[in-house]
Amino acid sequence: MPGNDLQSANSGAQSKDSGAKKGGATQPCKLATLTVTIVRKDGGKLNGGNNFWNDIYVEAAPKKRSSAATCDKPMAIGGLEPGSYEVSARPAKGMGYSFQDPVKVTLAAGDKKAVKLELEPHELVQVRPCTGKCIRQYVNLKPKKDEGSWGNEVELTAHLKKKEAGVTVYWDLELHADNGKYDGKVVNAANHRFKITTKSKTDAEGLAKAKLTLGWFGGNKVRVLAALAEDVKHESARAVKSDEFEVWRKHWYQISAPKTAALPSRAKCVASFEKVFLASEEYDAKTFEATEFPDAFRPSWQFKPGTGNDKKLCVGTHNISDFAKLYVAPSQDRSPKSHVILCDWQWDAKDNKSDWMNFSFKHGDNPDQRVVKVTMSGQANRMVGVFDPCLEKGKKVLISSAWEQHRWDKHANGGAGAWVLEHKGKLQDADISLDSGRGESRELRVKRPARCPGAGCPCGKGPTDLSVDRKHIIVGGLDVRTAIGTYLGWAESPYHMVVILPGSSMSADDLNDVLNHEMGHLFGQTPPKADTTNQLPLHPKMYQRRGGSGTHCAEGATFTADASSPLDPTVNGQLDAQGKGGGSYSGGTCIMFGIGNAGKREFCPHCAVQIKARDLSRFG
Ligand SMILES: [Zn+2]
Ligand SMILES: [Zn+2]
Ligand SMILES: [Zn+2]
Repeated sequence: MPGNDLQSANSGAQSKDSGAKKGGATQPCKLATLTVTIVRKDGGKLNGGNNFWNDIYVEAAPKKRSSAATCDKPMAIGGLEPGSYEVSARPAKGMGYSFQDPVKVTLAAGDKKAVKLELEPHELVQVRPCTGKCIRQYVNLKPKKDEGSWGNEVELTAHLKKKEAGVTVYWDLELHADNGKYDGKVVNAANHRFKITTKSKTDAEGLAKAKLTLGWFGGNKVRVLAALAEDVKHESARAVKSDEFEVWRKHWYQISAPKTAALPSRAKCVASFEKVFLASEEYDAKTFEATEFPDAFRPSWQFKPGTGNDKKLCVGTHNISDFAKLYVAPSQDRSPKSHVILCDWQWDAKDNKSDWMNFSFKHGDNPDQRVVKVTMSGQANRMVGVFDPCLEKGKKVLISSAWEQHRWDKHANGGAGAWVLEHKGKLQDADISLDSGRGESRELRVKRPARCPGAGCPCGKGPTDLSVDRKHIIVGGLDVRTAIGTYLGWAESPYHMVVILPGSSMSADDLNDVLNHEMGHLFGQTPPKADTTNQLPLHPKMYQRRGGSGTHCAEGATFTADASSPLDPTVNGQLDAQGKGGGSYSGGTCIMFGIGNAGKREFCPHCAVQIKARDLSRFG
């Protein structure tokens, strides 16, 4: 019954068998031939366009014949017994095509029939995520369950329209054209360190997975492409795209501040970090009472003359360890985290001492207490302070001293007269004091010595009252413990920083700038060398000294040379990327400039790229 496709394969087989029995089976059955041609519905244009082998099945239960052929090439399958068959084909795995439903064909004895099998191109309908939004991926964070945007690895899935297992999906990256742009060039490594699985196979649900690894250059963007052809980016591959991923980083910071402090908004600090693709979050805030740190709170006039008796907090090198104890070590999911210690003043007192300061009491210039303005070699006088009690806990202001009383002896020096030593001694701690009305923070008062100590004195007598008149003078010298200040802030590696609160020398904008600046230091700003890891050239505005303590950025600053204190721009500690010698910068416009400036600033393009290109998964 040629052409009767409705007859089932089973019934055909049964009638053939019974017919053979009834007829005595002496004459051989005449066999049929089926020519199968496999064609691609799209003419082979899609999914890579390659030709490939297919398995051909000609089935009439319980018998089954199979063969193989490439597309478009007729394959004759002879020797088929008459009957009904289901003919199907399976494309070679991964070639991006599927065969839909078997074709039924009935063959009579001696038939030669042709059948055409059509392959349907597979189609990827989606790569997930595909929400239509740009995804901020926080690449510096450790992966966290239920926080898909944490960590530098993302799992993506591609979905076949028709579910089929074992179909190969090819993956590639679509990098944003602006990635790594800096100073008219493109910096950072090949593919900006983005990586993607090159190929994977679908599961029974028609779903293939891939792993995207993101680079760490803030602001770089990438999409993932998936296709059923190896040349994913070729038009014929019909690649589907994921959402765009943008490289972000995140950090946490703790603020520890006096309970009475009025904290201004930190929103501008957060906004400046956002511009370099770094998100910020405050965590574990702490407040404390003045009574918890009695040595650190002093009358205001000590830190700035003329500002009254209110108690103000001073933190510096001498006592930061006390405040560092307020830091709450972060759990893994709040790391990296830094610690901001807010105070009124920052003076650094650790291991600082004055020059040897001379003083004298003489006729016509003989106060009860001599005002001494101490100096420190290498420090501007406005940066020098003396504090009483000493800021360094347990230490005395006075380090060492000596005085002598001299008497004018007109007979000495062969009758020409000379001052001769009569008494000598040392100052006592109580002889040193500060005047609450002092004009400068480096002023102290030395009480005029009143008596000689007796023992050890060249007079050879017991303690003797001293006098100052035309014939008697007292000369002496001393050195004292000092502090250097006042600073706006200070980053203490690896994660503590001291920042002063808005007040007489800070505005709210300044505070935000200093937060950005000190956190910038903790994240390695401003680097004194070229960064080979991140393929960054030397920061072209980097400098040391010349304004500020540490390495800073002179973008927008004016340089004023000072030949009296030469600096070598090639020597570490005196470096200057612009080759400047001795002198100082003023008016820098970048957050990383070494001196405070009024108004909120931003990271300049050179500093911005340094922060963007850096792996911020930890400090340093
Ligand atoms: Zn004496
Ligand atoms: Zn600095
Ligand atoms: Zn800068």
